[in-house]
Amino acid sequence: MTRNPIRAAVLEQPGKPLRMQTLFLDEPTDHEVVVRTERAGLCHSDRHYVTGALSITTPAVLGHEVAGVVERVGGAVTRLRPGDRVVATVTPPCGACASCVSGRPTQCARVEAMRLREQPRVVTADGTPVASLGGVGAFAERFLAHEQALARVDPAVSPAVACLLGCCITTGVGAVLHGAHVTPADTVAVIGCGGVGIAAVQGARLAGARRIVAVDALGAKLELAQRFGATDTVLADPDPAATLAAIRRILPAGVTRAFEAVGHPATAELAFAALAPTGVATILGLMPEGRTLTIPADELIYGDRVLQGAYMGANRFLADIDVFCDHYAAGRLDLDAMVTDQIPFEAINDGLAAMAEPTTIRIVVDFEAGIR
Ligand SMILES: [Zn+2]
Ligand SMILES: [Zn+2]
Repeated sequence: MTRNPIRAAVLEQPGKPLRMQTLFLDEPTDHEVVVRTERAGLCHSDRHYVTGALSITTPAVLGHEVAGVVERVGGAVTRLRPGDRVVATVTPPCGACASCVSGRPTQCARVEAMRLREQPRVVTADGTPVASLGGVGAFAERFLAHEQALARVDPAVSPAVACLLGCCITTGVGAVLHGAHVTPADTVAVIGCGGVGIAAVQGARLAGARRIVAVDALGAKLELAQRFGATDTVLADPDPAATLAAIRRILPAGVTRAFEAVGHPATAELAFAALAPTGVATILGLMPEGRTLTIPADELIYGDRVLQGAYMGANRFLADIDVFCDHYAAGRLDLDAMVTDQIPFEAINDGLAAMAEPTTIRIVVDFEAGIR
């Protein structure tokens, strides 16, 4: 079968910079779509694969928070057509298993099968298969995805902000709305104010939470969080007990909803410790494989507290994107201010390094900058 050349940033070995090279993209099968990449956000999980904190088969094309334009569709695709602007998800739902039909598509029983294909999506010039993160692999001029991984977005939403819908908004806002069902009666703590944390702050504002306490080890992040709706801030102390005491000074009874967006056992345990009785702690940060959490059984049992996950914001991707776009259009969801920098594709390694800057929320890779 013919394959088409694309420029891609390839992870050859964890700990090394991504290397720009020409890869060869397969033709779409019946239910697949070729997307021309417009913008891709740099997400912390991408960075975790680059540093080796999370593992992936190499060589690999990372990148999963992406907006682009449909170029070609497989023979059985009816929902999308060339020219549509789309955003991608790493959890393409089959739409037919028990999880999908009961409204939990991120827990689709067939999600692995939905991402797999007989032939690799991309190969190197010598035919070596290259993995595509999450069945997407968006750090490339074009990518091939299952149609169920793609949601159409209003073309009026610029790709620079549309890409955020695919991961950080879906995860942060989704966790608040679908995972923890925040209401105006809730008091919320958000621990970790990166892209996902800021999205959770915005989700809590959207849900009408009466108090939103942002917690971060960097003062600059707390200032940002206030701009997105935090009513109170806590500068995290290296000692979690001191951080907890600071949260309790603001809300002595504890919070009714806590969100962890860091990816460390200590901050996840802090999220649980911050809860009032009957409160719900939602852990969003990805942790290296094998990590365990320790929580006091008495607080769980006697206090009816809940510790839960909400992987990818427990999203209903194909329905959520329109919801987010309407709230964005109405000014209730600020996507523009979350994009703190845009960089050309060639500068992707600099962008990955700059993610640690305290004023970074999201760095977006612009695939159209300086088009060759
Ligand atoms: Zn992500
Ligand atoms: Zn399913």
